[in-house]
Amino acid sequence: MANHAISTSNLYPLPAPKPGHRFVPAALGKPGEQVIVYIECPAWCSQDHVANWSHYAEDIDHWGQTDAAWDTGCLTRPGDQMLALFARVHSDPVAADPRLRAAHVLMDDESTQVFLTPEMADRMADDLIAFAAQMRHLATRARQANQTTGDSDPDMDEALRRVRGGRA
Ligand SMILES: [Zn+2]
Repeated sequence: MANHAISTSNLYPLPAPKPGHRFVPAALGKPGEQVIVYIECPAWCSQDHVANWSHYAEDIDHWGQTDAAWDTGCLTRPGDQMLALFARVHSDPVAADPRLRAAHVLMDDESTQVFLTPEMADRMADDLIAFAAQMRHLATRARQANQTTGDSDPDMDEALRRVRGGRA
């Protein structure tokens, strides 16, 4: 048939991505001089590699969504986030350490990053469950201590003493 006469000189078969990966566009180079290339990106990666462009291909990391996040305030600092932990799946395809090239869990408290193998993340999760149980125990102890002593607030006790002593 005549349709089969199409020239194939401008057709380029795509290589198949590794299992669990797909090809996605990525922007490389500084703004104004960027090129868009296709990179192999794991299916769990939620990064937009064009919006989050890199200077060099070696700088491209893969990031999952922040699926685990915890923070706490402080009774003396209402509204402030005083301690925080975040965790997400991460991989660095050009890392020297094969454990960093593989998908692993990256934990971060906004100043320190730690990299955990899946096995380390499992152990850490067990430790956090134990920590949570200890926190409940501490909350119960504090609540019981307050019930025993009546008023838990030393400043309030002092204020009451002053009022009763006529010095307020
Ligand atoms: Zn990616």
